[in-house]
Amino acid sequence: MSQHLMNTYGRQPVTFVKGQGVWLWDERGNQYLDALAGVAVNGLGHAHPGLVKAIGEQAARLIHVSNIYTIAEQAKLADRLCELSGMDRVFFCNSGCEANEAAIKIARLYGHNKGVENPTIIVMDKSFHGRTMATLSATGNRKVQVGFEPLVQGFVRVPFDDLDAVRHVAEQDSNIVAVLVEPVQGEGGINIPKDGAGYLKGLREICDKHGWLLMLDEVQSGIARTGTMFAFQHTGIKPDVMTLAKGLGSGVPIGACVARGVAAETFKPGNHGSTFGGNPLACAAGLATLDAIENEGLCAHAEKLGDWINQAMTAVFQGVSGVVTVRNAGLMIGIELDRPCGELVKLALEAGLLINVTADSVIRLLPPLVMTQDEAQQLVDRLSALVKQFLSE
Ligand SMILES: *Cc1c(COP(=O)(O)O)cnc(C)c1O
Repeated sequence: MSQHLMNTYGRQPVTFVKGQGVWLWDERGNQYLDALAGVAVNGLGHAHPGLVKAIGEQAARLIHVSNIYTIAEQAKLADRLCELSGMDRVFFCNSGCEANEAAIKIARLYGHNKGVENPTIIVMDKSFHGRTMATLSATGNRKVQVGFEPLVQGFVRVPFDDLDAVRHVAEQDSNIVAVLVEPVQGEGGINIPKDGAGYLKGLREICDKHGWLLMLDEVQSGIARTGTMFAFQHTGIKPDVMTLAKGLGSGVPIGACVARGVAAETFKPGNHGSTFGGNPLACAAGLATLDAIENEGLCAHAEKLGDWINQAMTAVFQGVSGVVTVRNAGLMIGIELDRPCGELVKLALEAGLLINVTADSVIRLLPPLVMTQDEAQQLVDRLSALVKQFLSE
């Protein structure tokens, strides 16, 4: 490992050299089953032919031009995203935190436009919104913030999945302009609202009553991950702002802040921008990703396979003490243990399996959307053996 890389990651000692579908190979030729997909990025798996072709052709034609010109691929991707979501306008950037920065700026400008002096956004415990100063300040995890104070002001925090806590803030604070929330918390431990659609519906009502923007961070939950193109589509409501990134470009960096109604009209020329955001190459990757999801029926597949994995995991862990719950929203899958289990990442790697552990004790699986049931069976077999071994020690 180079001494010239900043020491920002606890890295596993493996270097991958190629991939195909849900499989990866390291430089020694060892094969791995990928149940992480670059943290919900490689939805189409590795080396998807449609994606590879689209990127190759676009790179040969035009990789980048400035946003001071019109960009055909960007316009097309914006149209597709709005058609799919029922939203109105898109701002393109390069990552999830940047998409959330755009959302936060929209909320503040929206507030100032209404004469709110100190526009404030409600955010949640255990949330994750990114690593820039504003998004780490919005994030509900002290570990992400510590050492980087002073934090950005203008956020109030409430427990996730607690509508009364939001109503209470509404009574106390006249500076609130928006709520920013993940429909399913990813980094926080695959936290799914108890009452299904009720939580987002309730937030929608509160936001409407007070003239606040409902802003959904779908950076992880979006792009078919939970079994619909966007997680909010399970609920019957629409947000005012939705942020996307991870799965959108299948590995080519792209982020999007998608807005509706007044939120879509808030930015005016000069208010926001990005050099790379929405360049032809990234947008070609986005379009190829959406094409593949539609042509291969990956939304319905993610829903079905996620539920199947949940059932299979629940069955193999039946009566195993140490496993607290198995939960999923499509292919966002969490297996909560009664003890810290970060060690499992390394043990799984040694057994040829890529997984993640988050919130100390939750095994997080975010497999490629293209995983087959046979591959999922292999995942269940290998992971259950590892977890039982780990718990018995
Ligand atoms: C990963 C993630 C982000 C941050 O995305 P980056 O591309 O790493 O900046 C923001 N929100 C959620 C919900 C995420 O999962």
